[in-house]
Amino acid sequence: MGDLSDITVCVECGGRVALKDHGGRRKWYRGAEVSYPRGLLIPTCETCGAEWVDGALNDALGESFEQQRAAKLQAKTG
Ligand SMILES: [Zn+2]
Repeated sequence: MGDLSDITVCVECGGRVALKDHGGRRKWYRGAEVSYPRGLLIPTCETCGAEWVDGALNDALGESFEQQRAAKLQAKTG
């Protein structure tokens, strides 16, 4: 697979892919409800909603989700 940051056409459906800020949108990540960090632009298909995340973007998202997940687990166990 090539560099996803340059993707403009969705591989899934052929729709247009545009950078979108998903800030605040909730998502389940490894058993915890987390939200997308604000200000992070993710290439997203305008037709089917597929997200094309790779490399540094994937790392940044994973780090944010992991931090939120850890904080929730800590809150739960006290
Ligand atoms: Zn699509």
